[in-house]
Amino acid sequence: MIDNEYLLDDRRYLFRQMAETLRAFVRENPDADLLNMGVGDVVMPVAPVVAYAIRQASYDLQSQLSFRGYPPTEGYDFAREAVRRYYADMGAAVRTEDICIGAGAKDELSVWNRVIDADIPALIVAPAYPVYVDNARLVGRRVRFVRASADDYPVPDGVDRRPYLIYLCSPNNPTGQTYPTDVLRRWVQYARESNSIILFDAAYAAFAYPYTITSIEGAAETCVEIGTLSKCASFSGLRFGWSIIGEKLLGGTARKAYLKYKSTATNGVSYVVQRAAESALSGEGVRYAKGLIGGYKYSAKIIAEALQREGYDCRTGAYLWLKLPEKTENPFEYFLQKSRVVVTDGAGFGEGGDGYVRLSVFSVGGREEAAAARLLTALRGIQPR
Ligand code: PLP
Repeated sequence: MIDNEYLLDDRRYLFRQMAETLRAFVRENPDADLLNMGVGDVVMPVAPVVAYAIRQASYDLQSQLSFRGYPPTEGYDFAREAVRRYYADMGAAVRTEDICIGAGAKDELSVWNRVIDADIPALIVAPAYPVYVDNARLVGRRVRFVRASADDYPVPDGVDRRPYLIYLCSPNNPTGQTYPTDVLRRWVQYARESNSIILFDAAYAAFAYPYTITSIEGAAETCVEIGTLSKCASFSGLRFGWSIIGEKLLGGTARKAYLKYKSTATNGVSYVVQRAAESALSGEGVRYAKGLIGGYKYSAKIIAEALQREGYDCRTGAYLWLKLPEKTENPFEYFLQKSRVVVTDGAGFGEGGDGYVRLSVFSVGGREEAAAARLLTALRGIQPR
């Protein structure tokens, strides 16, 4: 009954393998003082103003007068308006009608993967968030990669002029690169010339605030910007994101097809969460988010500088992208055994990720020096041949 090769594929997925190794390690070493720089999840609480909004929304549901049932497919107007104001504060003129609410960036990426014809190949800047490739495999979409090097920004030069479903993520997971305006312009220009569509994954845009592709000329006709509150406002559990879909995108068919698909496959995001998001996007909520991000950036800077002082190649962005001095068999296992630090093997992000590890700073606040010292101990044990 199930003939989807991807869904039935039980090859050992790298991230699952890492999780299993970690579980076994913790079982055998229950008292080990682990430093977890592997997770891409956040650990800081939501803003007090968000918790307050959740309580208020629950009172709304308690009263017959303000009770809400199924939410509109495109999201409540108050939530769409809150997203519009957030962009307006960045100087970007996004229209409320173009904003559609969803349950986070991953959900939005999945919707677009279903909406866009599976015969259109994906063009992915690699190394990349693995979900892009997994989505493509789910529907049998072919994939072409554009390699990103740590020194050059990835550009579409040399890619044939045919329609692609392009995945751009900036600031990038995992390399941390933030593509400058001229690089974004080149991609928009390429999408125009090739009749491609860009899914601009802005999951980490708040780290480069103010930052959006919507301000680039031609973006409204070529790009969907996908936003999320997961990382910047600690909504990874609450679930709130959006797609910005210009009315002329794909000749006006993109928004129609997206809404049709969504109304078939989901019943939207709950009223309570949309109220929570409205407050996260308010002045007070955004100030709190900037504080969180300032903390993450501080951690990243302290650790990266300590490694750079010792001559290691370590890039900072929303994550640290650390080049290993020598090819290491299983970097995850090595860092765990040697220094009790959990890292993510760069190989898990596909082409170009081998020889690197990704370090998350979401949960190291206050332990930066310890993190740097442990990482250095492990790195010194990897001798260049
Ligand atoms: N896009 C990228 C690049 C990510 O790294 C992540 C999560 O780690 C997501 C999207 C998923 O975000 P969300 O929690 O909004 O689904």
